[in-house]
Amino acid sequence: MRLIPAGFDCAACGSPNDTTVDPSQGRRQEYVEDCRTCCRANLLRVELEPEGGEARIEATLEDG
Ligand SMILES: [Zn+2]
Repeated sequence: MRLIPAGFDCAACGSPNDTTVDPSQGRRQEYVEDCRTCCRANLLRVELEPEGGEARIEATLEDG
């Protein structure tokens, strides 16, 4: 299984975070990951490109 390296900017503090996306979980995914800088929970909406294996991530704060 191949994990896709991706990244998102924290919705609270704007710091860049690295993450990986598991393509076996589907083209659209949502999961929560804590910012490594401010530890706020970011709700990540992930969309995988149909070709090329790129992942686009939109981060919002889980509590709002
Ligand atoms: Zn942050």
